[in-house]
Amino acid sequence: MTETITISNEPYWWVAAPPSREPAPPLPAKSDVLIIGAGYAGLSAAIVLARAGRSVTVVDKLAPGEGASTRNGGITSGNLRLSHTAMAKRFGADRADAIVGEAKLAREDLYDFIADEGIDCDFRLVGRFAGALSGKQYDAMAREVDHLRDKLGIEAYSVPRSEQTRHVGSDFYQGGNVRMDVGGLHPGKLHSALLRLARSSGALVFGNTCVLGVVRVGQGYDVKTEAGTIRAREVISATNGYTDGSDAWLQRRIVPVRSRIIVTEPLAPSVMNRILPTGMMISDKRKLTYYYRPTPDGTRLLFGGRDGTFAGDPTWPTTHLQAEMINIFPELAGTRLDHSWFGYVAMNRDMMPRVFARGGVHYATGCCGSGVVWLRWAGIKVARKILKLEQTSALDFDPPKSIPFFRGKAWFMPAVFAAMKLQDGLTKR
Ligand SMILES: Cc1cc2nc3c(=O)[nH]c(=O)nc-3n(C[C@H](O)[C@H](O)[C@H](O)COP(=O)(O)OP(=O)(O)OC[C@H]3O[C@@H](n4cnc5c(N)ncnc54)[C@H](O)[C@@H]3O)c2cc1C
Repeated sequence: MTETITISNEPYWWVAAPPSREPAPPLPAKSDVLIIGAGYAGLSAAIVLARAGRSVTVVDKLAPGEGASTRNGGITSGNLRLSHTAMAKRFGADRADAIVGEAKLAREDLYDFIADEGIDCDFRLVGRFAGALSGKQYDAMAREVDHLRDKLGIEAYSVPRSEQTRHVGSDFYQGGNVRMDVGGLHPGKLHSALLRLARSSGALVFGNTCVLGVVRVGQGYDVKTEAGTIRAREVISATNGYTDGSDAWLQRRIVPVRSRIIVTEPLAPSVMNRILPTGMMISDKRKLTYYYRPTPDGTRLLFGGRDGTFAGDPTWPTTHLQAEMINIFPELAGTRLDHSWFGYVAMNRDMMPRVFARGGVHYATGCCGSGVVWLRWAGIKVARKILKLEQTSALDFDPPKSIPFFRGKAWFMPAVFAAMKLQDGLTKR
């Protein structure tokens, strides 16, 4: 009899840390602060505000954490889509320095928080290897290393092609670089800890409670939800890639892009040691970036990238990712996959994560694919602004610009995906 193998389309992380689905008690009639979205951003804001004595209510239309915050790769990259040079051109050199400086602070703040709160989320500061696709990319990445080391004091070094198998068992790259300030964690366990801390600090967190709209009333807001209306003095929107029509204004500015991850069956220790000898996080410099890492127990490969669809076909994106994985590690050709799932990341026109306010509502949004560090930080920044503990952040930007002919469904993604793939294919090796 042949064994039927089915790939789970639930995140691997939910095995050890399933989203909490307990029934919600009735909503309070009022709250000092109402937060929409119970991911890293919403819960981090809730912890700061509740610990400062504010009454805080967090509502999520899904189970808390069922959005991107329990679906991601767990790489603490604090990555920015734009290079320092590109940011300097667009926002000025000082602002670019401030943004990368804040990325460093945000990363360190996460690591301190995990240690100080005793959070068990399998965090290891193992470093990240980024692979170059061409000699030209390798040279540019070497300049990046100089900047990281000399300007920011981050331990970083170039790895020539002849030495890359020390970090990744593949000859796919033309060398790369390593930065030691990036690590890996279990995103589901991190989210569970944030939820626990938010609740133990006094915040009320409700799942299955969709916000339908927010209306300004005097000095505050009426937040209409499926379970009733809450009067709040302040509102934080932390919906990121899961933004819906209840905020049609934001929806025209944030493109939800599907991002997918596959996880292999357990691999032999000898294979894991060969493909990922140091257990580092790995990414590359393609426009369609792929990233991978060992699962925290070191037994499986977790491999992620953009999904390339905006709806429908669940099999093609999985097969596509698997083919990319085999392209890098041909020895994984016969390997079974146990999980394949997707989530939404939030892209915007200038590809910057940000905090801003509009009509008095505070927004923390625009992760652009990298939010374990950034969106937690953005949530904290918004909370500290409400508490008037600080006024400014390098993430203070105007609201993102709207996108022509776009109302929330990223119909153009397959074409963008194909164009990026073509550009990557043309990168001179
Ligand atoms: C597959 C994948 C891999 C990723 N890998 C990495 C990685 O390795 N490293 C990294 O740094 N980042 C990664 N990210 C990005 C990271 O997960 C996100 O940036 C981060 O989780 C965003 O947190 P958040 O709190 O802003 O949003 P989310 O966690 O997405 O939470 C938003 C919440 O808002 C809720 N919501 C939306 N509308 C409403 C409404 N009307 N009413 C009530 N609730 C509402 C949603 O239900 C959702 O739960 C990845 C993302 C994905 C999808």
